[in-house]
Amino acid sequence: MQGDQSLVDADAGFLAALDSALPSGTLRPVAARYLEEPRGRYAGRAGAVACPAMAEQVSVILQAAHRARVGVVPYGGGTGLVGGQLAPDGPIPLLMSLDRMARIRAVDAPGNVLMAEAGCILADVQAAAVAAGRLFPLSLASEGSARIGGLLGTNAGGTGVIRWGNMRDLCLGLEVVLADGRVWHGLKALRKDNMGYDLRHLMIGAEGTLGVITAASLRLVAPPARTGAALMVVNSPAAALALLGQAQARLGEGVSGFELIGGMGLRFLADTMPQVRQPFAQPPEWMVLIDLGLPAGLDPAAELEALFADALAAGQVSDGVIAASEGQRRDFWTVRESIPAANRQIGAISSHDISVPMGAVPEFIDRAGPALALVGDFRINCFGHLGDGNLHYNVFPPHGETRVDHEGKRALIKSCVHDLVHDLGGSVGAEHGVGRLKVDDLERYGDPVALAAMRAIKASLDPHGIMNPGAVLRAGR
Ligand SMILES: Cc1cc2nc3c(=O)[nH]c(=O)nc-3n(C[C@H](O)[C@H](O)[C@H](O)COP(=O)(O)OP(=O)(O)OC[C@H]3O[C@@H](n4cnc5c(N)ncnc54)[C@H](O)[C@@H]3O)c2cc1C
Repeated sequence: MQGDQSLVDADAGFLAALDSALPSGTLRPVAARYLEEPRGRYAGRAGAVACPAMAEQVSVILQAAHRARVGVVPYGGGTGLVGGQLAPDGPIPLLMSLDRMARIRAVDAPGNVLMAEAGCILADVQAAAVAAGRLFPLSLASEGSARIGGLLGTNAGGTGVIRWGNMRDLCLGLEVVLADGRVWHGLKALRKDNMGYDLRHLMIGAEGTLGVITAASLRLVAPPARTGAALMVVNSPAAALALLGQAQARLGEGVSGFELIGGMGLRFLADTMPQVRQPFAQPPEWMVLIDLGLPAGLDPAAELEALFADALAAGQVSDGVIAASEGQRRDFWTVRESIPAANRQIGAISSHDISVPMGAVPEFIDRAGPALALVGDFRINCFGHLGDGNLHYNVFPPHGETRVDHEGKRALIKSCVHDLVHDLGGSVGAEHGVGRLKVDDLERYGDPVALAAMRAIKASLDPHGIMNPGAVLRAGR
């Protein structure tokens, strides 16, 4: 049923007919940026890029593609890290960019809802929320480029998930154009709605394989009255986990970020981006970034000091620095958010976006290093959102060598890390999704009943397999 065997290229005949059905300028030649992705693993191909300005035009495009059996790849900001936004092989598809659908349709501050079109850039949504005295709490390093449709398509996470959840938790309703062009008007703003299956949750995280999201109603929250941050040197990942427990026991939801940062990442940062000011003269082996958002009446610096004192007495921390200003808090976050860029300059052999049950994080770290040492001599940079059990576990060649020298070991490294994650009851696609990169992993580690249900859903909503062929589920199965 599903698959790209029956798909055809988006050829000149198809494009000419489609062009005549759309306002002039909707169909455009493919600029190079649409065919690249941040990690440089895949080079995309597309017959044209469709830039619709409204859901009705998305519908016209999908009806035509559905009739002609042409694949369609939805494209947001292009920051996806698993190759979901471009098609490197198979019949040549049509790319659909939502960047002209970038209107914030409404902001309802008392109702804590913002309605945004799928092409809105996250930073613009955050700014619109602030202008209304509210906060849209999704935050990630790609927020200047990533768009609402892509963020929903991948169910993006980021740094505030520990408190506010991921994109799924922040979405109240959706408008989606299905593969055959029908428009689902689900743009509700309800906190309670138990009328049947929740299609919203099916579309979120589907990575453009079930339809094109054209707009969303998003949940806003009251901004915390007081914010603060600290970097603390922890004695081990287990100590970091214990510290998180203490912070939450003391401050509950006031903990709005809790990031684990390994010493290797700090050394990479010192080597590649010396302009980023590091708080400790010698990069510690492990440190945590704690971010607080507290109600009026609580002093973040005093709370962090008290937390540090308790943790010092318990032997969990050995050093720390508390932000004295909002600027310093931002500097702390700059250290954390510069690590991926430093990683790219060093050049990982293999990067892993994994999650395990939170209590298993120390065990994962304790076991993964020795397991990899049996495969070769590597440098490991482990960092991530400890509060969500989500680690970025990246494996690098030894000093003086490049990833090319170790290309042959990539598959072994990957299975070594992923098998351990699976053993511990974790996920090998924590926040970035499956895209094209992890299709085999989903096959290998996914529950067979869940996979069969996914295929049945795909076949029912997209019988010709035109939506993002080859992403998430293997084409032709
Ligand atoms: C520097 C950097 C930091 C990052 N940090 C994080 C992080 O902390 N947490 C995190 O979760 N991710 C992170 N990412 C990954 C990335 O930003 C997210 O996956 C983001 O959600 C992708 O949004 P996008 O608009 O760029 O989507 P794209 O890359 O354009 O597309 C991503 C997927 O969504 C689909 N899609 C796009 N638009 C639509 C639509 N309208 N309807 C249906 N499907 C659609 C695409 O087909 C594709 O499968 C980071 C990436 C970078 C480069």
